[in-house]
Amino acid sequence: MSTPWRFPDYDAHEILHFVHDQASGLRAIIAIHSTHLGPAAGGARFWHYAKDEDAITDALRLSRGMSYKNAMAGLPLGGGKSVILADDARTKTPELLAAFGRAVDSLGGRYVTAEDVGMSVKDMIEVNRQTKYVAGLPVEGGEVGGDPGPHTSLGVFLGLKAAVRYKLGKDSVAGLHIALQGAGSVASGVALHAAAEGAKLSIADIDPAKVNKLADITGGKVVETSDILGLEADVFSPNALGGIFDAATIAALRVPIIAGGANNQLATPDDGARLHARGILYAPDYVINAGGIINVCTEYLGDGDERLVRERVEGIPTRLEHIWAESETSGRDPAAVADAMAQRLIGRG
Ligand code: NAD
Repeated sequence: MSTPWRFPDYDAHEILHFVHDQASGLRAIIAIHSTHLGPAAGGARFWHYAKDEDAITDALRLSRGMSYKNAMAGLPLGGGKSVILADDARTKTPELLAAFGRAVDSLGGRYVTAEDVGMSVKDMIEVNRQTKYVAGLPVEGGEVGGDPGPHTSLGVFLGLKAAVRYKLGKDSVAGLHIALQGAGSVASGVALHAAAEGAKLSIADIDPAKVNKLADITGGKVVETSDILGLEADVFSPNALGGIFDAATIAALRVPIIAGGANNQLATPDDGARLHARGILYAPDYVINAGGIINVCTEYLGDGDERLVRERVEGIPTRLEHIWAESETSGRDPAAVADAMAQRLIGRG
């Protein structure tokens, strides 16, 4: 499709807001992809980009991803994302965060920010001094909020179980071999749920302390990071990096199922079709890893409690089953099916 802008990732984004605050040195881009379902929600990333064009590409892609993720999670929110361009010293001063907060506020609630890579809860407290359009703030007793990681892990585990049911006809992961990439926040939660149900785990992480600790707690086996992708197992669960599936890695896979929480797992859309052609059942990343955003959004909207968060997270398996069923009927791969469903939900199908 031709686009009116010469950015390959421009996809009828509603707003691309360039910010420069001379006094603090802030340079940021706020991208609003769609507000069709509600205010555009998505985190702020603090990152050092080699070229300004890379920051624009990141903002365009990530904000579209948030539109899809929020829509598929059934949330009354659109998709947006912001990137703050770190300088060589990567300094994040209170003045810079304040200027970013004012920029978010200037959009009048059309964009709601939260933490992403390089931004902490502490940073969000600074941003919140300038604008109310912030989520991911610390919670007080009994309120919904706080670390989204455990909610993401629960959604990934429930989605993984749904994949096992769909592909292997089993109601439990007991006795199954799960290969986990990553031993961080999301992976740890998935590993604990799976171990509690009796799964056999192989785990790899570039951080030896983390992987050893997680293997100790779960009775799992530590595997070299270079071996985890080609391991023979019942499920491969990627919970570390994006862009891991390409023609070469897909050819080396020895699993019938991929179900993990890492964002942007497919290097290109063709890789969804490659997995499908190999008969590997894929759980689209932005559908299975929506538990965290469900928690963050319920916090921001103030429309529910822990019970509602849990109910919304428990909806993830049903959505995945729907995608796999449509994939079986249409012959299209699950990633393509999910994209088409998300586009319909945001009024662009
Ligand atoms: P984290 O930083 O806690 O964990 C990531 C882990 O991956 C770290 O332990 C790191 O050492 C490891 N890692 C990095 N490179 C690796 C490699 N080459 N091989 C093996 N391990 C490697 O992050 P997280 O919050 O657990 O997030 C994990 C993934 O899930 C990311 O892709 C993130 O974008 C995605 N995600 C997270 C959430 C959330 O709520 N935290 C929500 C949605 C998606």
